Amino acid sequence: MKTEHSQIQEQRRKFLKGFSLALGTTALGVPLFSLSSCQSSNTAGEQTATSDQEQTTGQNRKMGIALVGLGQYSANQLAPALQETENCYLAGIVTGTPTKVDEWKTKYNIPDKNVYNYENFDSIADNPDIDIVYVVLPNSMHAEYTIRAARAKKHVICEKPMATSVEDAQRMLDACRENGVGLAIGYRLHYEPFNKRVMELGQEQVFGKVVSIQGGNSQDLTSGNPNIWRLKKDLSGGGPLMDMGIYVVQGACYTVGKAPVAVTAQFGEVTSPTYFYEVEQSVNWALEFEDGLIAEGTTSYAEENDFLKGKAENGWWTLEPAYGYDGKEGETSEGKMNLPNIYEQVQQMDGQAQSFRNNEPSIVPGEMGLRDMRILMAIYESARNGGKRVTI
Ligand code: NAD
Repeated sequence: MKTEHSQIQEQRRKFLKGFSLALGTTALGVPLFSLSSCQSSNTAGEQTATSDQEQTTGQNRKMGIALVGLGQYSANQLAPALQETENCYLAGIVTGTPTKVDEWKTKYNIPDKNVYNYENFDSIADNPDIDIVYVVLPNSMHAEYTIRAARAKKHVICEKPMATSVEDAQRMLDACRENGVGLAIGYRLHYEPFNKRVMELGQEQVFGKVVSIQGGNSQDLTSGNPNIWRLKKDLSGGGPLMDMGIYVVQGACYTVGKAPVAVTAQFGEVTSPTYFYEVEQSVNWALEFEDGLIAEGTTSYAEENDFLKGKAENGWWTLEPAYGYDGKEGETSEGKMNLPNIYEQVQQMDGQAQSFRNNEPSIVPGEMGLRDMRILMAIYESARNGGKRVTI
């Protein structure tokens, strides 16, 4: 006889099986498009006109974000997204390149008082316009700037990978806890319909128990400049695993809503030594979950792929592409996923700002970044040791 719980679960599975995206809230209860609207403005001029009282209080106040590091991701994704966010706006910049300042100030109406360099960055503590510091620097610099931001009593969004070592990730978490500020990682896919659908399919066991997961995320860098920071170990912490493979590890974890307990991994052959003399060219791994489920992953800087697949007892799903900024497509054993491509960074930063403002835990907290650092380091440990099984 079915228990009440199992009947509810079954009804829920039926509902989720016929799921179609409704504006507002997903079946997991995570708001997609219904974030609260703003009260104050997103222009520097109007900010000056806002009273101190309004700057520091009010549930609907837009939070001011300062971007640290004005490279490709800040310039092409985050700053434009911050023109569309409802809960936060681009209030300031932190850069080591003075020649970028005028263009950013003009383009985004940023006042002089909200422009910092790496030396005077700590004085951001005295600036009430800045509520959140968003660290968008090369990976090995994430720890220093997250910790300095926390000491300045600012909430922090830190880009992936959170750090280049488990120890640094732990220090970042500690600093944010000690200073009473929030820490979220730039895991935009947790706010994105196709990947959220995978979370539902897997975690809610819509097609029964998940029996296998496979993912790949690779980008060919071998026709570009070999002197970029992504190929320098001291700045990147590692090769494609730190940059692209982390998405595949994330994909496995959010498909089942759990962390793996062990891993085996192998480095691929180095066929482009001009590029890959400090970091790996490619790596393959198998994550093992406590129930025996295996999630296979691959990442490379010398080929192209972008997919996340899951197989369950009674069905399957595929996202391909799965991780890029847009153009995602998905299919299940019941047909094409009819979901929209959205401006992920808008949803991500609005969601993160809302969690900071409401003093609520982020859905992509620093703890998740630390968990992932442990997994990535275990993958490297296994690959360095001829594929030996490493427990996490
Ligand atoms: P980028 O090379 O375009 O920009 C890096 C920035 O850091 C530049 O402004 C550069 O001037 C500055 N910098 C400071 N010190 C530096 C140093 N010693 N060497 C090199 N640059 C230095 O890189 P990016 O693509 O913008 O990546 C920045 C961060 O954002 C990385 O951690 C990356 O993983 C992350 N990222 C995340 C996503 C995502 O989808 N979430 C996408 C791209 C990048």
